[in-house]
Amino acid sequence: MKDRYGRDIVYLRWSITERCNLQCYYCTLQKEDYSNNPMSLDVIEKLSNIFKRLGFKYVRITGGEPTLRKDLVEVVEIMSERFLQVSLTTNGTLLADISSDLKKAGLSGVNVSLDSVNSERFLKITGRNKLNDVIDGIYAARKAGLSVKLNTVLLKENIEDISDLIDFSLKEKIPVRFIELMPFGNVKKEDFVSQEDAIRRISERYKLESIDEKLGLGPSSYYRVVSKSAEGIIGFIPAITHKFCDSCNKIRISSSGELLPCLAHPDVKVELLDVIDNEVELKERIKKAVELKPFAHKFNYETSSRFSMKRIGG
Ligand code: SAM
Repeated sequence: MKDRYGRDIVYLRWSITERCNLQCYYCTLQKEDYSNNPMSLDVIEKLSNIFKRLGFKYVRITGGEPTLRKDLVEVVEIMSERFLQVSLTTNGTLLADISSDLKKAGLSGVNVSLDSVNSERFLKITGRNKLNDVIDGIYAARKAGLSVKLNTVLLKENIEDISDLIDFSLKEKIPVRFIELMPFGNVKKEDFVSQEDAIRRISERYKLESIDEKLGLGPSSYYRVVSKSAEGIIGFIPAITHKFCDSCNKIRISSSGELLPCLAHPDVKVELLDVIDNEVELKERIKKAVELKPFAHKFNYETSSRFSMKRIGG
């Protein structure tokens, strides 16, 4: 579907639960009011049918932590029967046991969020001692034949760990992408590290060269990175310092069934679930949401409203 600025909106980012088993401080508000009422498989199937008919082609399942849903394999089956590509964003803690079932169900790849390979720092950032589970999950996903990428949020807290993350990425041949921190939840401006700061720091240790190659459908820009013993590809998602809204092809479904045309405008939304059995009205609402998609985000550390990322799904 084209929006009013001519962008082709074909990519759904779908939060299927707001529950999470980690507590990354930048992702969550202090007191969360969980609805704990995730969309049923029946609702997911009905929505998938409509979105497919409207021309949506790609889905990224997110949360909360989507692997907490016991029926995730069924969710993937429903979506992969209808869309060209279904992928998953996950903290990886529960991937070890389910990767091969997810692959069989049609999942194409996983983005695993990993902010540190140092277990103390991992505990400090996520509030849980689960680094080994994440590493096991990454290996299992790769073994199952899923494409794997790592996502790291750039923070003052983990800036010292960037080299270790890159070394891990080069050793395992799994690309890592560094995401600029966005003003959600309890985030403070002092926590922010820009892409430029990170590149400066990485260049002290590695040779970096910007490349045109793209991995996947997202907005990352990529660099070839060369160390003394290895080389690979790393990416950046500089949502704050370099907007990429003009090429945004996404719309988001929150865990409570609202359609959000822009991550940075969580108050601009359209309800879907109250008309789930009325196909005509559902289509109208989806068209309305696409129409409401703002041209660009206005993330601002001083003024942005502090919604929880978990509900929207990142
Ligand atoms: N639980 C899953 C995970 O950890 O990937 C999926 C949900 S999480 C909300 C999706 C992505 O959003 C993660 O990569 C997370 O690091 C990122 N994220 C959360 N809060 C963020 C923030 N304030 N700024 C930038 N990225 C954020």
